[in-house]
Amino acid sequence: MWKTLRITLLLLILVIVAGRTWLDRVETQSWKNTLWVGIFPFNADGSPQVQKYIASLSATDFANIETFFEREAHRFGVQLEQPIHIELYPQGGQLPPQLNAEAGPLGVMWWSLKLRWFAMHATHVSGRTPPRIRLFVLYHDPTSLRVVPDSHGLQKGLMGVVHAFALKEMAGSNNIVITHELMHTLGATDKYDLRTGAPIYPAGFGEPDRQPLYPQPNAEIMAARRALSTTDFEMPSNLRDVVVGSVTADEIRWTHR
Ligand SMILES: [Zn+2]
Repeated sequence: MWKTLRITLLLLILVIVAGRTWLDRVETQSWKNTLWVGIFPFNADGSPQVQKYIASLSATDFANIETFFEREAHRFGVQLEQPIHIELYPQGGQLPPQLNAEAGPLGVMWWSLKLRWFAMHATHVSGRTPPRIRLFVLYHDPTSLRVVPDSHGLQKGLMGVVHAFALKEMAGSNNIVITHELMHTLGATDKYDLRTGAPIYPAGFGEPDRQPLYPQPNAEIMAARRALSTTDFEMPSNLRDVVVGSVTADEIRWTHR
């Protein structure tokens, strides 16, 4: 009797979670209403430099992410005038749980559960509408760290952890990383070689039909780098030089509606 009850309860929770995930997906891929995206900045290393940088941030620093979504969504025939709205929230104190670089599938699952728990508490700001998608942006001092840890965007739970450099000159490429992770939360998959970082042809190319193929003028957002030749590629410094490819557009349901 106890066993049956336990199994029933467990099944019920699973059904609720699956239903919630399904609803989230339908809602964030309908493109009928403007999607609210919250940016929650964090001081990753506790340095005064990063603190100063975060204090200087305003919503306008992220405005070109909105422009990027407008431009690209309209190119694929989405009617909605403003697909996403970015809202900047106050700086968070306690940092989100870190994902160990060597974590296996179980480790990733455990981390995403901890992140959900963290998000439930960390994103409540009184007097402010909670966003649909939550992006935790961890700023690092570029003088003490040459390469930031990997960023992650999760469709399940609609949240992401982004590592960025606290430097005005890097704001353009930070916004590319933020947009890439935001795209993951909407259901887009990576389109670069995970070992080399090279854009995958044709899905990871901004203009796969271009003649000659190289150099590509734009990067595809889920490849994040534009191919200059068969062996060279680079990350643009601004979302102006980034596009959404047709495979990504399909994945986030900008097409086949
Ligand atoms: Zn990615």
